[in-house]
Amino acid sequence: MADSIQNNHQPAGWKFLNKETYEIGERANYVNSPHVIAMVGLPARGKTYISKKLSRYLNWIGINTKVFNLGEYRRHATAAYKSHDFFRQDNTEAMAIRQQCAVEALQDVCQWLEKGGEVAVFDATNSTKDRRNVIQNIVVDRMGFKLFFVESICDDPSIIEQNIMEVKVSSPDYTNMNKDAALTDFLKRIEHYQERYQPLDEEQEKNVAFMKIYNTGEKVVVHKHEGHVQARIVYYLMNIHITPRTIYLTRHGESEQNLQGRIGGDSNLSARGVQYANALANYIKAQNIEGLRVWTSWLKRTIQTVAGVPAPQERWKALNEIDAGICEEMTYEEIKEKYPEDFKARDQNKFAYRYPRGESYEDLVARLEPVIMELERQGNVLVVSHQAVLRCLLAYFLDNSADELPYLRVPLHTVIKLTPVAYGCRVEHIKLPIDAVDTHRGKPKNPGELEEKFILKGRKNLL
Ligand code: ATP
Repeated sequence: MADSIQNNHQPAGWKFLNKETYEIGERANYVNSPHVIAMVGLPARGKTYISKKLSRYLNWIGINTKVFNLGEYRRHATAAYKSHDFFRQDNTEAMAIRQQCAVEALQDVCQWLEKGGEVAVFDATNSTKDRRNVIQNIVVDRMGFKLFFVESICDDPSIIEQNIMEVKVSSPDYTNMNKDAALTDFLKRIEHYQERYQPLDEEQEKNVAFMKIYNTGEKVVVHKHEGHVQARIVYYLMNIHITPRTIYLTRHGESEQNLQGRIGGDSNLSARGVQYANALANYIKAQNIEGLRVWTSWLKRTIQTVAGVPAPQERWKALNEIDAGICEEMTYEEIKEKYPEDFKARDQNKFAYRYPRGESYEDLVARLEPVIMELERQGNVLVVSHQAVLRCLLAYFLDNSADELPYLRVPLHTVIKLTPVAYGCRVEHIKLPIDAVDTHRGKPKNPGELEEKFILKGRKNLL
């Protein structure tokens, strides 16, 4: 298998002698070497959950990441799933198929990394030392990538049963089985794995970099991790939890500068903005949310918006609106007139464009990372912030790309309710019945062109 992995992509600085005889291990010494994160653990221990969540986070912070799920390769390679017998240790035919699937998945992992991917998450049980040795041989010794194992250990039967009922009984394997039969079959499947399961061990796998997460984060052990990518992964995985909770996002009420079509600034709420503040307080009170905390930016319009919300409040400077630099407090029309080149450049690449002496969306994501990390640690939170900031937070929760992020719709006077479900988030938009201006500017067909609704000059009633 390894022979078919091509080394056709040679980043600067990597020493290749020729295709087959490059200096093995050399690449692993580079700070930015591609990484393989290999999951370890029995079925229903949250490996897929962790893989998907980690991938969403890494992509959001700008690290190109993809999950390779071995279960999907297995389903592709076999006829319809019949029962747990497929996973018996003495089922040699099935064992051969499973081995072949693992090899193919690893081959795809390596090829994807060779083509410029940065982190591949190999989502499989990888539950024996032998299997982990194979991964080590291919990924590190042969390809020169970095390898980090993440093991999830859970011995709480109630969590395991809950996991099975939440995601396994509805998996494609069980389309023709009722829930009780599926639960029984899945528990048997776990037993087959248990017969050969060898948890990662500091003594026996001395030179292997790994982390072990016990009972959804009750305890974490980290062994020989190296480099900033692994450090960030460890820190992130130490902060997440699976206790049910809800996150509410809303922009401030309509502001005086919204009425004038001006961006940025630090103005007060408009009369309608004040009405929204009252409506928001009533909405939140009616929800009766346990342990709710309220986070606002440092700007007046967010603080005024939560004046009547009866919950502990914290101010975050990191939640302030994107800094528009020399364009602060201007209308789009004025920016287009005064800085036409900048106006056009922003339309051409809105995520990367940085306002002169201000920020880009990319900068904003970096500024918001601590907010995301703290949100992950918390229970129920209401975040009151600004259009660009909330686009960044939403993109994290909904897994939007950097291209989509700056165009996400975050209307005024609307609460966005995020509830974690299975591997993602359910999103609901609750529009409270107070009118507000529409500040959304979609991606224009022609960069630099301004739509009619933003041309304000000479109008009395703006927008
Ligand atoms: P399989 O090997 O069958 O693919 P899996 O280990 O990938 O199983 P998941 O499909 O990820 O298991 O299970 C999802 C469930 O695991 C979710 O309900 C989630 O709440 C829960 N979960 C998330 N993290 C953990 C954890 N660290 N330990 C146990 N369960 C977790």
